[in-house]
Amino acid sequence: MKKSMAHLDRSEVIKEMPAVCSNELVAVEFFERKIWQGKPHCPHCQSTKVYKMVDAKTGERNKRFLWRCHDCKKQFTVRIGTVLEESRIPFRHWAYAFWRAVTSKKGVSALEIKRQCQISYPAALFLMHRIRFAMTPERGSARKLECIVEADETYVGGKPRPGTGPHKSGRGTKKTPVFAMVERNGEIRRRVVANVSGRTLKAALRECVDKEAKIITDEFPSYAGVGKYFRGKHEFVTHSRREYVLHGNHNIHTNTAESSFAILKRGITGIYHAVSKKHLPRYVSEFDFRWNTRKMNDGDRTVAAIQGAFGKRLDYRTLTQ
Ligand SMILES: [Zn+2]
Repeated sequence: MKKSMAHLDRSEVIKEMPAVCSNELVAVEFFERKIWQGKPHCPHCQSTKVYKMVDAKTGERNKRFLWRCHDCKKQFTVRIGTVLEESRIPFRHWAYAFWRAVTSKKGVSALEIKRQCQISYPAALFLMHRIRFAMTPERGSARKLECIVEADETYVGGKPRPGTGPHKSGRGTKKTPVFAMVERNGEIRRRVVANVSGRTLKAALRECVDKEAKIITDEFPSYAGVGKYFRGKHEFVTHSRREYVLHGNHNIHTNTAESSFAILKRGITGIYHAVSKKHLPRYVSEFDFRWNTRKMNDGDRTVAAIQGAFGKRLDYRTLTQ
């Protein structure tokens, strides 16, 4: 019974999206349902004695989609207390951008949002930065990774300067290191890190991975001694000897981490071109969100991203620092 209801709810979201992305009233009511989850309340005093304001002449909903609180008498909209606050971008464009960001494998560019929604490029950029922020789990809120966890690092960004000779890649370049920890058949946690020292990588592992887990890495020296923190121990493959699968044991590999990096790099070079170091953590969060919700259908994933918008505000200063 519960299962069939859930199925019904999911297919409804998918069917709703075209209307949500094209009609402002439908979009507002969609955000109100998903963010308040059936319990509209006042963001100032948390009272649930709230009502929709209507136009005195027409009896239709207030043009700004305001609500009023019976208790504190203040007015508010569903934007308050979410990443949509302080933005005048219509709800239908937010809905479209959430939908595209969640369902496009490599992400969606601000340029495409600008074209589709017919908004300015700065407005589209603003929107996409906030959507990425909604997709970023709050520090410490994510569960720890369990069972078999692959760990690996890669280097992102930093186009070679003209005339500097052959393009170097990998360890020892000026690119930004990104560290991935990924469960076999499960979730991923990636961190943009300052360096790839043993100290940095082990700190990230201990923050993100349950101590009962088994860690699999390659032979990079920074991983030496990782096993002492995890009861499942540490095994590694030697890429330099082309030993991608250790001793015929087909379970010892870092292929999952490597394929997660392949998607990230294709997205960053294909859609985002040059991503600045400052913004890289949020782009990485966006790719992690899609990885971690890949078993959901597109309707559920869109709702999960929108619900992540709640309780998070991001002012312009935070973004440009
Ligand atoms: Zn109130």
